Amino acid sequence: MIHEILPVGMLQCNCSIFGDEATREAIVIDPGDEIESILEVLQRHGLTVKAIVITHAHIDHIGGAQKMKRATGAPVYMNAADQELHQRLDLQAAWLGMPVPETGGIDVAARDGDTLVVGATEIHVMHTPGHTQGSICLWIPSEAKLVAGDTLFSR
Ligand SMILES: [Zn+2]
Repeated sequence: MIHEILPVGMLQCNCSIFGDEATREAIVIDPGDEIESILEVLQRHGLTVKAIVITHAHIDHIGGAQKMKRATGAPVYMNAADQELHQRLDLQAAWLGMPVPETGGIDVAARDGDTLVVGATEIHVMHTPGHTQGSICLWIPSEAKLVAGDTLFSR
């Protein structure tokens, strides 16, 4: 499986792209910003985005989601417990001195136990509240990888 990690935006949130080599389907996790760079990587690998997944509604993780959605037509997945936080992106932007990103609703509620399928790979949604109420982790058993958003910080 193709896996690219790009640090994006002012806070250098890690955006992850997972792509299937055979079907060229992909998911993009946490497109916080710098959508052009993310699109470039997708294009380089010839990938089509099937889902945009947000680990939690902090601005550095969700800021570019609508732009990404417009560019790819893919639906946005997020846990519903972060809806309130999502609606206060204007406040988050003010705290950080950033421009307010375009906001849109979530298209698909990512729930604990849900499975996303990208080509031959299963990606499991785990609801892991703590960092935020609606934080999720994505577990990819066949790759032995966990995308934890901010649920786990380095160190
Ligand atoms: Zn966060």
